[in-house]
Amino acid sequence: MCREITIDAIKCNDCGSCIAVCPEMFVRNMESGVIEVVMQDECDYASVQEAIHMCPEDCITMEEV
Ligand code: SF4
Repeated sequence: MCREITIDAIKCNDCGSCIAVCPEMFVRNMESGVIEVVMQDECDYASVQEAIHMCPEDCITMEEV
């Protein structure tokens, strides 16, 4: 089973909570300034789930693909 994690960049308010909770997965692109998802293949799904729970804009999704 594989999961795809995405961020809706339109809804994201740049609060940084996802980076605080799961820094190995969520990073800020230093050129564009937007939050991006990395390490899709090796992620700790429990931490991602916590980041989803913490996100104030409900803009992180994790789907089975
Ligand atoms: S927690 Fe949600 S709103 Fe905050 S930076 Fe991450 S994706 Fe954006």
